[in-house]
Amino acid sequence: NGHSPNAWEGSRVMIIGSMGFIGGVIAEASLECGHPTYLLIRPELASLSKASTIKSLQHRGATTIYGSIKDQDLMEKVIREHKIEIVISAVGGASIADQVKLVNAIKAAGTVKRFLPSEFGHDIDRADPVEPGLTMYKEKRQVRRYIEEAGIPYTYICCNSIAAWPYHDNTHPADVPPPLDRLQIYGDGTVKAYFVAGSDIGKFTIKSIDDNRTLNKTVHFRPPSNLLSTNELATLWEEKLGYKLPRVTITEDDLLAAAREMRIPQSIVAAITHDIFINSCQINYSMDQPNDVDVCSLYPELPFRTVDECFNDFAVKMISNPKLVNKPANKNGTMMPNPKPEALFI
Ligand code: NDP
Repeated sequence: NGHSPNAWEGSRVMIIGSMGFIGGVIAEASLECGHPTYLLIRPELASLSKASTIKSLQHRGATTIYGSIKDQDLMEKVIREHKIEIVISAVGGASIADQVKLVNAIKAAGTVKRFLPSEFGHDIDRADPVEPGLTMYKEKRQVRRYIEEAGIPYTYICCNSIAAWPYHDNTHPADVPPPLDRLQIYGDGTVKAYFVAGSDIGKFTIKSIDDNRTLNKTVHFRPPSNLLSTNELATLWEEKLGYKLPRVTITEDDLLAAAREMRIPQSIVAAITHDIFINSCQINYSMDQPNDVDVCSLYPELPFRTVDECFNDFAVKMISNPKLVNKPANKNGTMMPNPKPEALFI
């Protein structure tokens, strides 16, 4: 037909929250796939560390736009001017409700074929965590209903847990390597959850954005190979370390007490950890609703990274980071842990 193979141009994607963990992996995947990629960045909070991230994303072809989703007129103008077809929001917990303004802007601009609101966890219409997790879920539910009432085409991504140690007292599991001092086991340690690599959250989210089969659907990430209990996760990490660690039981009551402290965001994480490892919220339902889609059945040819591979990455990073591990290794050649792991940004 006369078109060169290079003539394909992907959908025009705008990503909100690319300086955060989830938005960051989605931005990487969008650029990797060759989509014209626009990043909405809040200008007032730009820091030095962000500046280098922004530069590297621009270098790879991203167009940066400065603004906030709270500015509805600006959002409408940006979407219209750049003929944005897909909007992906990965704003953090404190900004969930502000997405209503973004939905208004999407509706007014009229160019958007798909909106992915900030979900990227559990199916919030099914899961029912204690407070303060419940308040965040209620806000996410309200956003879903608002999108549906506005008639905006959508996809909800339920990617379950991130492939990392599931700390209950930490704001972001993926920022911190697995422990070197003791392994905290939730309840009896047998309840399983799906642990998905950040890069796969990005990759499969981007696969779904212009797939007709995910239009107005909830996409569940349930790769059988990534279904592990905390006991299994602990054993896997010990294998990587080459030594055993003490195991400490965190009971249901411990998690509920941490949730009741109402420290935000730590208590939200405790409430959701309780829902995962005590209530089994990731595995206590079957995908029997007409809007449920399993990502593995959509793209059976594409493998997920295993938790084993992800833990290998953590081990390699820790060996090469003297702040985390006292080198050289002891006489037996195993790693010597510092008593307290520090945050490691990956
Ligand atoms: P972060 O808090 O790390 O990042 C949020 C991003 O959104 C930041 O870049 C922030 O900008 C941007 N942002 C916030 N408000 C606005 C606004 N008004 N206008 C424009 N940009 C804004 O979020 P996470 O990556 O942790 O969370 C994203 C989603 O993923 C949430 O829905 C969360 O619940 C979910 N999640 C899921 C996890 C899981 O285990 N499955 C784990 C963690 C999160 P700035 O840099 O300026 O602050």
